[in-house]
Amino acid sequence: MFEQFIKKYNLPKYRRVQLYTQYYKNLISSWDNLSTWPLQLREALKKEIPFSNLTFVSSTQTKEKDSIKVLFKTPKNNYIESVLIRERDRNTVCVSCMSGCPVRCIFCASGQMGLQESLTSYQIVDQVLYFARYLKESNERVSNIVYMGMGEPLLNLESVSRSIIDITDIDKFGISKRRVTLSTSGYVQQLRSFMDMRLGVKLAISLHSPNQKLRDFLMPTVSKENSLIDLFEVLDQYTKEKNKRVTYEYVLLRGINDSIEHAKELATLLKNRLALVNLINYNENECLPFKKSKNTPLFKRILEERGITCTIRKSLGEDIKGACGQLSGTHQDC
Ligand code: SAH
Ligand code: SF4
Repeated sequence: MFEQFIKKYNLPKYRRVQLYTQYYKNLISSWDNLSTWPLQLREALKKEIPFSNLTFVSSTQTKEKDSIKVLFKTPKNNYIESVLIRERDRNTVCVSCMSGCPVRCIFCASGQMGLQESLTSYQIVDQVLYFARYLKESNERVSNIVYMGMGEPLLNLESVSRSIIDITDIDKFGISKRRVTLSTSGYVQQLRSFMDMRLGVKLAISLHSPNQKLRDFLMPTVSKENSLIDLFEVLDQYTKEKNKRVTYEYVLLRGINDSIEHAKELATLLKNRLALVNLINYNENECLPFKKSKNTPLFKRILEERGITCTIRKSLGEDIKGACGQLSGTHQDC
């Protein structure tokens, strides 16, 4: 978009620098604030390129004011949600890459919507810039970005990878690659393409099951075509090549995947692998039958006793239904 404009008007390099500095670094709030450009050029830009490709609809805050969920509308009238999670040492933005999700994991609210729309890279970056502008008002910054909102990043890889390039480019938003995490339900072929891109961001895998059978039940769409054997083949290659640890997300569902046996089986599966298990407390949803597990500390202990590094994800924003993975667009009927 910007590049086309620059080319069309044959702008010298310094104009691009001015645009990027104002837009990504100084975080201006409209094209009218692009004061380093002459009025005529600014007006042309205003006519040709929308300042944002998402429309703000509403926002909700947690009681503690540590999380804010924002509902946006796309020009095609689909809804997406993004969350800002504020912690003592970091401000994390959880971005959506789709409205809805075609993967339809049976415990996930976004999945129940099916795919409504895949976002462009600009719409993904827009979510980050929205919160960056918001935080600027209190002299704060976005420090981390997680692709854990609505949608499956590897099924929108072109836009997702372009957005990663933009937000990590030091001439643009310039966030450190180590502070960006992409979470995927595990599409093997696309994971290979993602690895070949060498984007340098962290990888999280939504595992949720220690065996194929249970994964087929919880995540049928992805699991049946991407077996655990194939998934671990590519992940083992990833850890070997990059010497980087993979995070395995495991959402604990009461009576489904949270028994002592499941924990032991998971420990065996990950033994001798460079892995971190991130246990997630399930955010219940009135439209779905699953319940939060009561076994989280026990599950963690079993893994740790077997030498598996393990953390429990701090659950934020439950009262605004704004924790990552609980994003379901407009509040639809079940
Ligand atoms: N599609 C990607 C990224 C978005 S979901 C993926 O599946 O990895 C981000 C994380 O939230 C995933 O691990 C997902 O399984 C988890 N999740 C989904 N629904 C949830 C819920 N209701 N409570 C807690 N975590 C949930
Ligand atoms: Fe899609 Fe991830 Fe939800 Fe599965 S868990 S339906 S892949 S958003």
